[in-house]
Amino acid sequence: MSGQDISVRYEGMHPPQLIERVLAENQGPACITCSFQVEGMIVLHLLRRYLADIPVLFLDTGYHFAETYAYRDRMTKLWNLNLVNLTAQQSVAEQEAQFGKLFRSDPGRCCYLRKVEPLMRALEPYKLWFTGLRRQRSSTRHTLKVLEHHQLPSGHELLKVNPLAAWDWEQVWNYAAEHGIESLPLYEEGYPSIGCQPCTAKPAQGADPRSGRWGGTKLECGIHTISKQGEQAC
Ligand code: SF4
Repeated sequence: MSGQDISVRYEGMHPPQLIERVLAENQGPACITCSFQVEGMIVLHLLRRYLADIPVLFLDTGYHFAETYAYRDRMTKLWNLNLVNLTAQQSVAEQEAQFGKLFRSDPGRCCYLRKVEPLMRALEPYKLWFTGLRRQRSSTRHTLKVLEHHQLPSGHELLKVNPLAAWDWEQVWNYAAEHGIESLPLYEEGYPSIGCQPCTAKPAQGADPRSGRWGGTKLECGIHTISKQGEQAC
């Protein structure tokens, strides 16, 4: 079946049913990428019913907020997660010794070294890639599909599944409250989108929720744009 058919068929499904059906109809090893923001935690909450030990790929850039690391560790213990920390080839100290503060001088390169390259390597064994991406998150995500065929730079193909693609903020927080999912404390401080500390600020009122990232100079780190969508995946 083509990627286009798959996406159309799954569009509009409630996330729990979508996940159940995707897992029933698609074979192969699955993983989830999770930055421990609320959407990723919801998809993880749903997935754990079927795949209790699904690998949770966390991009450990070395630049996260202390609160993010503490929350990651707390939830990993609480949910007994199969956490996989993905690290760059160089430590933060080595990178800064060679290039200085790349997040200031060349954030694109910093993201590539600390996020994109480690993730592309880590995704190689998988056929199913779950995410907590939503269309409303950013202007760069308005065309996001619930299912997309992706091809990594190596040529490896996998199915990317975005069960919350159509959800708005209210649905997200309602689900978290209904299911008692503790969230990253930084939301309460006014951060609607949380990444590495040097590149995360509070956006102006009414602005794109991700506009506080990278000082508004870009909206994506590259991990969701480096892989190529399949020709048939609308
Ligand atoms: Fe570097 Fe900032 Fe990208 Fe994190 S978000 S990898 S600190 S540029």
